[in-house]
Amino acid sequence: MKVIDIINTAVQNKITRFAFELLPPLKGETMNSIFDTIDKLIEFSPSHINVTFHREDIKIIERENGIIERHITRRRPGTIGISSAIAARYGVEVVPHLICGGQNRFETEDALIEMNFLGLHNILALRGDSAKGENHFLPREDGYAHAAELVGQICDMNHGKYIDGEINNCHATDFCIGVAGYPEKHFESPDAQTDIRFLKTKVDAGAHYIVTQMFFDNNKFFKFVEDCRSAGINVPIIPGLKPFSSLRQLEVLPNIFHVELPEDLVNAARKCKSDEDVKTVGVEWAIAQCNELKKAGIPVIHFYTMGRPDSMVRICRELF
Ligand code: FAD
Repeated sequence: MKVIDIINTAVQNKITRFAFELLPPLKGETMNSIFDTIDKLIEFSPSHINVTFHREDIKIIERENGIIERHITRRRPGTIGISSAIAARYGVEVVPHLICGGQNRFETEDALIEMNFLGLHNILALRGDSAKGENHFLPREDGYAHAAELVGQICDMNHGKYIDGEINNCHATDFCIGVAGYPEKHFESPDAQTDIRFLKTKVDAGAHYIVTQMFFDNNKFFKFVEDCRSAGINVPIIPGLKPFSSLRQLEVLPNIFHVELPEDLVNAARKCKSDEDVKTVGVEWAIAQCNELKKAGIPVIHFYTMGRPDSMVRICRELF
């Protein structure tokens, strides 16, 4: 089922469902960590599961003979294969992420063809971050600078148009496309208005829905939705939540994800004597956020589980 149909059905039935996001295992590990996480959460009937996509790392190795080698490696490869394995094992809808970073449009087309052959018809289309060592995002030659261009390529395939333009009577794919939105604006954007204007280009290019970056203050989400509607963005907007779970995250989350932590949450976390207590604070905070979002009629909530399902199990027991 397409994510857009899942959203519309939940709206019709006046219910709130949940989805969660997983990272592919590190290279050299097995699928067990992924299956363990899903095994713990599948009984709560997630509407779908997202699988993130990770760009390449470039390693420079200096050999003893002075020769310098440049290696391109991927720490978390396998997004498409993992998505297909999850769909086959659990019969649940899976949404692989696809990024522009490190890929040209021909490689992107191959990935899309592969997803289509595997019956994966939902995609979250993203630009990705800059490569390590680069201070701003650089597209690959024949690649894309912005997610809107990737959305355009996927939509072209949905109309049977492939990039070389030389083959006739092509199979038209039927991808449902999600894109990212930022209630606290994307960190590279000069202001929220500009960011929303660029978000609209992704929707105008054909995106069916938006999933937001994590936020810890629902007012930021409600304001973002209002601003999007005023800017003429009318597709569904799925809120993204992350159960806060360790004192380290007081620094990590604002630094990496460019989000603000509300003072009440920070104070409650600082009073905790152990990370277990911090987890409880995070679970209670997320439950309060969910209750308010449910009351507002939000059809799907997206959770960033980051491979740690325990807090999610507690949230699901309470809410789903
Ligand atoms: P874009 O929409 O291209 O926007 C990037 C920046 O460019 C923004 O500041 C935007 O305002 C600006 N911009 C857009 N269009 C233009 C234009 N035409 N001219 C000038 N400026 C423009 N990253 C991964 O690597 N893998 C993942 O799996 C992944 N999953 C994610 C899931 C979600 C739900 C979210 C919210 C983020 C995810 N990310 C992931 C992170 C994401 O890749 C980064 O936040 C990235 O920096 C921006 O991606 P984007 O798709 O929003 O980019």
